[in-house]
Amino acid sequence: MGVIRQLDSQLINQIAAGEVIERPASVVKELLENAIDAGATQLRINLEQGGISSIDVQDDGKGMDRDDLTLCAKRHTTSKLKDTQGLFSITTLGFRGEALASIASVSKMTIITRQHDKDGLSYNTHTDTVHTISAPKGTRIIVKELFYNTPARRKYLKTSATELRRCMDVVYAYALAYHNVGIRVTNNGNELCNVAAAKPFDRIVDVLGKEIGQHMISIAPSDTSIQVSGHIAKPQCTRTNRRVQFFFVNKRLVTNTLLSSALQRGYEQYIHHGTYPVGVVHMTIDPSHIDVNAHPTKAHIRFSDESSVYRSIVHAVRNTLVGIDLIRNIDLNASQQQLDDNVSHTTTTTPTKRVSDQWSPYWKDHQQSTIPVHEQKASETTSFRVLGCVMRKYIVAENPTGLVLVDFHAAHERINYTRLQREYDTAPIRRQKLVDPVVIEVSGPDMRCFEQNEQQIQRLGYEAEVFGEKSIMIRTVPVIMGTCQPASSLSELLADYQDNERLSPQIRTEKILIRMACRMSYMAGDELTLQQMRHIIESLHELDLAFSCPHGRPLMARISPRDLDTIFERIR
Ligand code: ADP
Ligand code: MG
Repeated sequence: MGVIRQLDSQLINQIAAGEVIERPASVVKELLENAIDAGATQLRINLEQGGISSIDVQDDGKGMDRDDLTLCAKRHTTSKLKDTQGLFSITTLGFRGEALASIASVSKMTIITRQHDKDGLSYNTHTDTVHTISAPKGTRIIVKELFYNTPARRKYLKTSATELRRCMDVVYAYALAYHNVGIRVTNNGNELCNVAAAKPFDRIVDVLGKEIGQHMISIAPSDTSIQVSGHIAKPQCTRTNRRVQFFFVNKRLVTNTLLSSALQRGYEQYIHHGTYPVGVVHMTIDPSHIDVNAHPTKAHIRFSDESSVYRSIVHAVRNTLVGIDLIRNIDLNASQQQLDDNVSHTTTTTPTKRVSDQWSPYWKDHQQSTIPVHEQKASETTSFRVLGCVMRKYIVAENPTGLVLVDFHAAHERINYTRLQREYDTAPIRRQKLVDPVVIEVSGPDMRCFEQNEQQIQRLGYEAEVFGEKSIMIRTVPVIMGTCQPASSLSELLADYQDNERLSPQIRTEKILIRMACRMSYMAGDELTLQQMRHIIESLHELDLAFSCPHGRPLMARISPRDLDTIFERIR
C-alpha cells in the first residue's frame, strides 16, 4: 500500500504559516499592509506582551461584506490579484492571499468589520461563524495566543521586550512610508507611538527623532528612468550599522543588499570607511520591471534591470550631496559639554542620547522643526580671507558665514584627487618626461602585475616599459606628481594594484587615484606660506568641491558669527 497522503487543510495552512508568520512582528506587518491596502487613514494597534498574547489592529478602511468576510481567511483568497498577467504588475502590498489564512491557522483570530452604511459583522475564524455587531467603519482584526497550537514555533519567540521592539521596527518603517496615515500603538495599555498624518519630512522627525531630522535633506530630483526620492542625512550624521536605512519600492518596504550598497557608494568619499549613511529612500519603478513574488514575506524583490536601479540611487545621492553646503558648523554646546566631561572625570555624566542608535526612535514632545530642503552653498556666494595657520594643520580664514578652519592636508588631497580624476576621465593623465629615464628593479609578482595592467598604468601618466627580466624603465611620470622619486611612486602603484586586486576596475582606479593624491599633498606639519594657503582655498572654489577629503574626513568647519557673539556674550 502506498504511503503518500494528501495533507489536511489545517496542516497545509500551518506549514505555509511557518514561512509567512515567524513572530508577532510578521502579524503586525501583514495586518498593517492589509489596512493600508484597504485605504486606511487611521490605524490603532494594541499589543499585549509585545504581541505574544494579543495583537489587535483597527483601521478605518473600506471594510468587508459578509461574503468576503467568510472567505478572507481561507487559503489563497484575495481581492488583489486576478490572473497571471496581474502578478507582474502588482500595485498593492498584498497579493498572495495567504496572510490571514496563515495567521488564523496558528492563533485565535476574530475579525470585526463594517462597510459604510452597512451593519457591523464579527467573524470567528475558528468556528467559521458570523454574527452582527455594532462596530465603527473599517476592519479590526484581533489575533490572540499566537502559536498556541504550534508549541515548536512558540519556543523560538524571544522575550516580550524583544518581540515588541521588532513589532515597533515594522510600525516605524511603515510610518515613514505612509506619512498620511495616523498611527497609534500601545503595549499593555502604554502608549508607544501616536503620530498624526503629516508631511514626509515631519514624519521623519516624528519617527527618527530630532537629532537625525536636523541632518536630513531631501533627495534632489534627477532625470533617471527610475525615480528616486525621499530623504538622506548629511555626511556628518552616520551610524555604525545599517539600521537607519529604509528602502521602499513603490511604497513597499524592501530589504535588498543592492540598494544598501548603492546608497553606500553614493556616499563614498563623503563618509569614513566602516560607517553607514542614514536614509529613507523611495523608488518608483514600473511594476512590470520588478518581481515582488520572490519571497513569502514579500520583503525581497527582484529587479529586471539591477544596474539601472543601482546607478539611479548612486546618481541621486551624489547629486544631492553635491548641491548642499557641507561645511560643518562647530557645535559649541557639544564642545563645551565634552570639555566639562573631560574635566570632571569623577562625576558620572550621561552621554547625549542618540535616538536611532538605541533605536527606540519615537520622539514624544517634538517641536516644529525647520530644516532647509536645499541649503545654499556658502562657498559659491562668499569669499574667504586667509588669516594664517594653526598647529601646522589648519588654515584659519574668514568669510561672511563665519570663522572657517580648513584642514589643509585634507583639502589639498581633495583638490589633487579631483584634478587627477578629471584628467583620468579625459585620459591619459598629463605626463612629464624625466630628464634621464629611471630603471627600477621589481619582484616577480610586481612584474606580472605591471604586464597585466600596463595600459592602465600608462593612462595614469607613467610611460614605462619592461627592461630586461626584472627591471622596468620609467620615461614619464604624471605632471601632478612632480619629478621626485619616480621609482618609489611606481612601486607603490604596483603594490596598490595588487592590494586591490579583488575590487572592480572602477573602484580600484578610484583607490589608486586617492593614494596618488594623498602622496602628493601637503602633510600636517608642513609650513605653508600665505600664498599656498590662499591657493588651496581658491582651488577649492574653482573645483567646486564637496567639503570632505577623498577618505571621507571633513575638510572644513565653521563657527558662525552668531556663535562667536554668543561666546563673548554680545548676544544671549
Ligand atoms: P492579500 O492581502 O494577499 O490579498 P490576505 O490574506 O492578507 O491576502 O487578505 C485576504 C483578503 O482579505 C484581502 O485581499 C482583502 O480583500 C481582505 N482584507 C484583509 N484585511 C482587510 C482589511 N483590513 N480591510 C479590508 N479588507 C481586508
Ligand atoms: Mg495581505
